[in-house]
Amino acid sequence: MIHNFNAGPSVLPKEVFEEASRSVLNFNNTGLSILEIGHRTPLFEPVMAEARLLVKELMSLDNDHEVLFLHGGATTQFMQIPMNLLNENEVAAYTETGTWANKAIKEAKFFGHVEIVGSAKADNYTTIPKEIVTPPTAAYLHITTNETIAGTQWHNMPYDCGVPLVADMSSDILSRQLEFNKFDLIYAGAQKNMGAAGVNLVVVNKNILGKVKRAIPTILDYRNHIAEKSMLNTPPVFAVYVAMLTLRWLKNKGGVAAIEKENNKKAKLFYDTLDALPLFKGPVAKEDRSKMNAVFIIEDDNLEKEFLEICKNEGLVGVKGHRSVGGFRISMYNALSLESVKVITELMKNFANKKG
Ligand SMILES: *Cc1c(COP(=O)(O)O)cnc(C)c1O
Repeated sequence: MIHNFNAGPSVLPKEVFEEASRSVLNFNNTGLSILEIGHRTPLFEPVMAEARLLVKELMSLDNDHEVLFLHGGATTQFMQIPMNLLNENEVAAYTETGTWANKAIKEAKFFGHVEIVGSAKADNYTTIPKEIVTPPTAAYLHITTNETIAGTQWHNMPYDCGVPLVADMSSDILSRQLEFNKFDLIYAGAQKNMGAAGVNLVVVNKNILGKVKRAIPTILDYRNHIAEKSMLNTPPVFAVYVAMLTLRWLKNKGGVAAIEKENNKKAKLFYDTLDALPLFKGPVAKEDRSKMNAVFIIEDDNLEKEFLEICKNEGLVGVKGHRSVGGFRISMYNALSLESVKVITELMKNFANKKG
């Protein structure tokens, strides 16, 4: 039995893998593979339509919010967002919470001015900045709701920032209930919590578009994708299909409210165990801990190696920390079972008893 704690691409529901692999051979009993049908056909169009509709339903979105599935990963959104929303002479407000926020900041500077309105840099990104003050003239406020590498997560959203709110939700999309309509743009690479690599979700309030002066290349203008129902060019059909299956799975489980309960159980079990074992330490401030990506360490390098070896032998995959921070990281995305968290917490307890 493999327990997959990979940070991304990462674990997906077994049912999704099964159905996706069946459809590679024979999609909907057509005798054709999902990989060999036109995207503008009565076979694929319903897949895209259902994927978009499921996002609308799962997030309870109003009619101002449009759902798009685009190419290029979340990294393309780092530049596409300022290209569509930020004039050259304007300021965009960004929060600086770690590796991913910094990448977003870097790209925004190609298009206008960036003001950092909250930073966790001085804390080595182990906290989430509180009491953000956003200039009312800012084109938007950008936050990274979950920092996948640092292991921090926003638990109080700056809904009342007074300017359009933009969020990178790549690593906690659809993991918890939020007031999704209070965000003006949400984006997420699918490969962490909602599907295979190759597509990203963009939810955008159409009222914030069309306000920049620059000319926007066709493929990078959200308005064109909205007009074409997310089929401006050939979409990544297989990645959209896998996302649709994952969204269906989530809906059948009871939606975001139900998955949030499970995610809370997993995170509580993990962090309660961590806090009870002095051998293991969590660098992140307790109130800012991520329920998706838990980062932890053992101060002794030899014991760190030994614990990783045990994990490997027991079929636990993806426990090693990101190369930039070391230590351990486990990702507890929607499709990871409580059982997998039980397995690693038991290993931690046994290890601490022996070495403590
Ligand atoms: C993984 C990740 C990204 C990058 O996603 P790509 O799809 O690889 O471009 C951006 N932001 C966050 C928070 C991530 O976890």
